Amino acid sequence: MESLNQSAYRARQLCEALYVQRVPSLDQITTLPAALREELKAAGHTVGLPELLQTAHSIDGTERYLVRMADGETVETVWMPGGDGGERGDGTKAAEEEEHPSHDDDDYKRATICISSQVGCAVNCQFCLTAKLGIRRNLTPGEIAGQVAAVLNRHNVEVGRDRINLVFMGMGEPFLNYMSFMDAVRLLTGPMRIPESRMTVSTSGILPGIEQFAQETVRPKLAVSLNASNDIVRESIMPITRKWNIAALLEAISTVPLRPRERITFEYVLLGGINDQREHADELIALLKNLRAKINLIVWNSGPGMPFHEPTPQDVGIFQKRLRDGGIPAFIRKPRGRDIYAACGQLKRTLESPPPTPLIEIATL
Ligand code: SF4
Repeated sequence: MESLNQSAYRARQLCEALYVQRVPSLDQITTLPAALREELKAAGHTVGLPELLQTAHSIDGTERYLVRMADGETVETVWMPGGDGGERGDGTKAAEEEEHPSHDDDDYKRATICISSQVGCAVNCQFCLTAKLGIRRNLTPGEIAGQVAAVLNRHNVEVGRDRINLVFMGMGEPFLNYMSFMDAVRLLTGPMRIPESRMTVSTSGILPGIEQFAQETVRPKLAVSLNASNDIVRESIMPITRKWNIAALLEAISTVPLRPRERITFEYVLLGGINDQREHADELIALLKNLRAKINLIVWNSGPGMPFHEPTPQDVGIFQKRLRDGGIPAFIRKPRGRDIYAACGQLKRTLESPPPTPLIEIATL
């Protein structure tokens, strides 16, 4: 707007149209004069939303979208009505709602959206299908926030009335695309009005990212994908451990200032026979005893061609009890959308998008 000699007021109108009304095209921004819209077009500006190209429906209500960006690259985004219980015990409002749902709750009013931060991922966790893609590119802040806008539109969500939680746990490592991720957070908490306390970012343990994150004043809750109780096991399933070991990771995490009652979430994917035994639980208790932490246990979701097997229900129960007896709050995350490969570690572009067609509207905000 400034480059077109327009006032800040026009910029605010544009921002409102993009992020509050979530309009899919420039022509629909009727708060801007038609002449200005034409001027914007003539200057090469277009607006729009990422396209929900294909949808897979789970019997549990979860929807997984193949989302196409302006250049034809695709990522996956997941809508989970009722959430997945990941917030339990983290000391926030979202956790309270999960633990004590009110009578007027229905799945429509409370949902969690899992969003991607990169096309593919470079981290190469051995249990994750997304890792098989490698990394293609980072998403822009508009593409990250745009996934949320597109999904909110699909479900006619009114932010404020409906309770939406966001998890940055889709494709990609948000802390390897740090600036865009944080700019997206500012779009989501600012004009899109989703409270930061309803957002959780998960990292595989990128230390420079954690150190930067510790300095942020507005930030989502932090979840760390730990998945092992010692460096040997972790290195075998998460090669990133070679660069930053568990001790260095925990040291960096301890510098993140927590809000009152907030706990850091440690995600722990239970892999049968690898990290799910009593001795692993005991090691975990020793590791985390001095942190304000909680653990989300995720029963591994099998995927084609993956060299792991699911833990037995008995082992899962024993593991959780041992952690709790050792003073660590431990919760088992509800698996969502397993039948459509939408669950944790399963996001992969299983549906290839058709070649990009010339777009009338650029599909980024
Ligand atoms: S688990 Fe997350 S960080 Fe690891 S490869 Fe998969 S998407 Fe990347």
